[in-house]
Amino acid sequence: MGLPLSFEFFPPKTPEGAAKLHAVRQQLYSAKPEFCSVTYGAGGSTQDGTLQTVQAILDEGQQGASHFTCVGASRESVRDKLALFKSMGLRRLVALRGDLPSGYGGMGEFRYAADLVAFIRAETGDHFHLEVAAYPETHPQAKSAQADLQAYAAKVKAGASSAITQFFFNTDAYFRFVDDAYKLGAEVPVVPGIMPITNSAGLLRFADSCGAEIPRWIRLRLQGYGDDVESIKAFGLDVVTELCDQLRNAGVPGLHFYTMNQSAPVLEILRRLDLG
Ligand code: FAD
Repeated sequence: MGLPLSFEFFPPKTPEGAAKLHAVRQQLYSAKPEFCSVTYGAGGSTQDGTLQTVQAILDEGQQGASHFTCVGASRESVRDKLALFKSMGLRRLVALRGDLPSGYGGMGEFRYAADLVAFIRAETGDHFHLEVAAYPETHPQAKSAQADLQAYAAKVKAGASSAITQFFFNTDAYFRFVDDAYKLGAEVPVVPGIMPITNSAGLLRFADSCGAEIPRWIRLRLQGYGDDVESIKAFGLDVVTELCDQLRNAGVPGLHFYTMNQSAPVLEILRRLDLG
């Protein structure tokens, strides 16, 4: 058995984007993923696109997973969505709190992802494999690293089956997180989330907002390449392949790729790892 792989997509906004993602998925299926997941816009945006993309993945004979956020949602609306997911034949969800878009009204009836996990288990028993988010470098809104670990453990206690991490480039943070989580009794697989490096500005901006740190040496190298996209890509492939190799050698339970709806960087990393 090879290392289990999973691929994450976001719902395309245009027919051209949908056609491109269709082609990207076919290319990535050659790596025989365990499942492919689709992100969900907290607070309403893009949710129809998520369902359409997940349905396409299921229709293509692959295991699909829908991300599912609870912020701003009512129990009734979550119940309705769960019935819809079931009717689609979906067996896997990534259960999240999400972040409300600015200007959005109330928080809704779920405060944290742990509340959503508990609700899904109460409503649907073991029907769904439930993934939750893990933050080896601590979620940006957490009161402290320890409080964030407790919050993660609460999600596992509420019924999570496994976890996917925020992306990271510092393996020590990941291993420490997994050790500490296990000490708190949160003994489910924690799959590293892997972000291929394909562009500089987007990555640096995104990392600042989501609780992931770009180490100084990587940041400076990327800044030094300026607009030289080919050098950024070549450097990114080396760094991320090395990261995956270290994680694989340490026995991680799988690798989850944030594909950004592109196949080439992921396939090249997998080829270099002999996993493609
Ligand atoms: P939670 O686990 O609820 O944690 C949120 C914050 O609350 C943390 O700071 C935590 O420490 C704190 N907290 C939790 N419980 C308590 C408590 N009892 N008391 C005090 N503090 C507490 N966003 C999307 O909108 N759509 C997506 O599809 C999506 N997919 C993602 C996939 C992955 C793998 C990851 C890592 C993130 C994803 N996100 C997505 C982003 C995510 O929604 C945000 O990071 C969000 O801010 C937190 O969601 P969560 O489920 O981790 O929340």
